[in-house]
Amino acid sequence: MRKQIITLSIAASVGLGTAFIGIPSGTAKAESISELEKKSEEIQNKQADIQSEISQKESQLNEISEEKAQVNADINRIDLAIGDTTAKITEKNQQIDEKNAEITQLNKEIDVLKDRIEARNEVLKDRARSYQESGGLVSYIDVLVGAESFGDFIDRVGAVAVILEADQDILAQHKADKDALEQKQAQLEKDLSDLEAMRAELASLQADLNAQKEEKNKLMTSLLQEEAQVNELKMSLEEQNENLTAQDAAVQKAIELEQQRQAELKRQQEAAAAAASAAASAAAAAAQSSSSAGGGSSAVSTIPVSDGTFTRPAAGTITSGFGFRSFNGGGFHYGVDIAKAGTVPIVAAADGVVSRSYTSSSYGETVMITHIINGQTYTTVYAHMSSRSVGNLATVTKGQVIGYMGNTGDSYGQHLHFELHRGAWNAAKSNAINPVGIVPL
Ligand SMILES: [Zn+2]
Repeated sequence: MRKQIITLSIAASVGLGTAFIGIPSGTAKAESISELEKKSEEIQNKQADIQSEISQKESQLNEISEEKAQVNADINRIDLAIGDTTAKITEKNQQIDEKNAEITQLNKEIDVLKDRIEARNEVLKDRARSYQESGGLVSYIDVLVGAESFGDFIDRVGAVAVILEADQDILAQHKADKDALEQKQAQLEKDLSDLEAMRAELASLQADLNAQKEEKNKLMTSLLQEEAQVNELKMSLEEQNENLTAQDAAVQKAIELEQQRQAELKRQQEAAAAAASAAASAAAAAAQSSSSAGGGSSAVSTIPVSDGTFTRPAAGTITSGFGFRSFNGGGFHYGVDIAKAGTVPIVAAADGVVSRSYTSSSYGETVMITHIINGQTYTTVYAHMSSRSVGNLATVTKGQVIGYMGNTGDSYGQHLHFELHRGAWNAAKSNAINPVGIVPL
């Protein structure tokens, strides 16, 4: 069917200055199959490496997960302690309020008592003064002298003594009451200062717990950041792994097609009939043109397909070349940007097998094509497309439309970001080469 399309050795090329020069068609040998098998093996080895890196990232993620669980448990524990401390502080505040109320009440009682003692003192002083003014003891003696009988005298002596003693007793009792109240007041004040000390201690404990919690929260934030970073690395490795799987599949398909092609060639040779051979060529041409016709020929900005191994992937202006950029922070640009407004079809730069047709967060709508030229694997990348018109493992011919120029992924303005890799694509883009001089641009 389409086996002629994937003829992997390309007709005499133009402008290929390096070892990359395509071999003339029809020179495919069994050797090239073993080369392809070697490529496949290399890809699989690389995949094994990436797989072990992915496992490493996974165990790193597991560690982070465990650490996060631990920090979460710590935060919960600290929260409980903060809740507990807050309850205790509330309780202490209540107790302090109660003590203050007791102290206020007691102060009132002390004031009343003091007033009473003061009043009593005044009475006693007045009485003493009146004794003095009237001759002190004389008055008592007058009282006694005024006795009308011995019995009366005894009563009067008793009365004077009782009066004096009663005065003393009342005074002493008042003093004792006052001392007791003052002692109680001192005790209450001590209780109050103890409570306040406890409250201060709890407040400092709470401040300490809050600081601990803040620290744990910071740790959690940094763990989440680390997790996001590792995840991103893992995803990029997974993308790389998927690309390698796809490229291996593309190489396997190329091997199959090459075997078919060789078998076909052998049949043709055996037939040794010029007419039969011509018919086969016609069939090939028909298949090729019908395949090309599938690609969307009604595009606005088409470009002619060049002779040679490669053709220009899109019409437009080269806005950025391969290499270090003097703008955008001066990073390395692993491809060539071709920009043009309007509907611009993107075509396969050479015959090959689509190793990836997918949406990438950075590349946007992307097609990667694996080419095997003279036993060497090449990968071309077409990024930021508006749409893709070929699927994984589709065989494509040079000049076949694979999608349309767009502005998807990390892109600023409609353009094609085109990369050429000698070998497989990888996330580090270590195989990227300057397409200038190889692809007519
Ligand atoms: Zn670019």
